[in-house]
Amino acid sequence: MKKHNFSAGPCILPQEVLQKASEAILNFNDDNLSLIEISHRSKPFVAVMEKARSLALELLGLENKGYTALFLQGGASLEFLMVAYNLLNKKAAYLNTGTWSDKAIKEAKAFGEVVEVGSSKDNHFNYIPKNYTIPEDADYFHCTSNNTVAGTQMKSFPDTKIPLVCDMSSDIFSRQLDFEKFDLIYAGAQKNMGPAGTTLVIVKDEILGEVERQIPAMLDYQTHIDKDSMFNTPSVFAVYVSMLTLQWLKDLGGIQFIEDVNNKKAALLYAEIDRNPLFKGIVAKEDRSVMNATFVLTDEEMTAKFDTMCAEAGINGLKGHRSVGGYRASMYNALPLYSVQVLVDVMQALEKNK
Ligand SMILES: *Cc1c(COP(=O)(O)O)cnc(C)c1O
Repeated sequence: MKKHNFSAGPCILPQEVLQKASEAILNFNDDNLSLIEISHRSKPFVAVMEKARSLALELLGLENKGYTALFLQGGASLEFLMVAYNLLNKKAAYLNTGTWSDKAIKEAKAFGEVVEVGSSKDNHFNYIPKNYTIPEDADYFHCTSNNTVAGTQMKSFPDTKIPLVCDMSSDIFSRQLDFEKFDLIYAGAQKNMGPAGTTLVIVKDEILGEVERQIPAMLDYQTHIDKDSMFNTPSVFAVYVSMLTLQWLKDLGGIQFIEDVNNKKAALLYAEIDRNPLFKGIVAKEDRSVMNATFVLTDEEMTAKFDTMCAEAGINGLKGHRSVGGYRASMYNALPLYSVQVLVDVMQALEKNK
């Protein structure tokens, strides 16, 4: 039986997507060829790329609004520097909410001045800074919508006059936002969309072309826009599986449908964390992530017992990030509500058998 997969990333994908992907590896498009042995310039693959790009914009409600969707490589980590390469002339503003923002800031510093408008680093990133001021003369403002490691999530985004850039790697397509507010969104596929190997970038075309430096072709968003995301060989398998996952989401009813399910899953787990005296949440309640719930045992002596009970229940991937410890239950789009119920049942059984 399939395990209850709470892995933080790479993470659970819909079973029907895995089924279709495995079929395409053997015989894609009924052409008696594998998806991964045909030219990326062949008609069937070009159609896959186009479908993936248009589904991404459609699900976010950004079609015909001046945005382009790209499937690039190098992970979200390459976007940390590509964003700065393409947008930072003199000064950029960053909100530091976790491990990933911290890394983005480090990369941007190579290109100009970085103003950290707020940071929760002093408190192990266990809350989202609020009431910060964004300098209006900055080239852009960068934030991370969901902090995969600490388990916090931004519930609102500032109104800015300058371009708003957001790393949405771990909560894209999980909740409805006013996506038009954003000028550049990026997300590594492996958290909520597909396998590792491709990064979705949604960029508002008009924000480009403002920096003076020479940008290497591969790192220039404009190159990829001009070449329809096919400047070089794309990560064909990762793009294909992402396309299948986006189609799966659309068929279910899109972001509005999945947001409701995601809220139910998170509410179920957090209620148990708050009720059960054996468990304690790690981050500020109002900033809790709907995607990644972090928690600890109040009595560390129970660790071996809880871990064994989880394993026996078929639960995978619950170990917290090495920098935080404890537990992290990642509840991405493809995780069924039932899996969260199984985890909650184990938490209750632990309390009873204490
Ligand atoms: C996982 C993650 C990253 C890093 O992604 P890579 O694809 O491994 O480079 C960046 N930002 C966030 C929010 C993440 O969750």
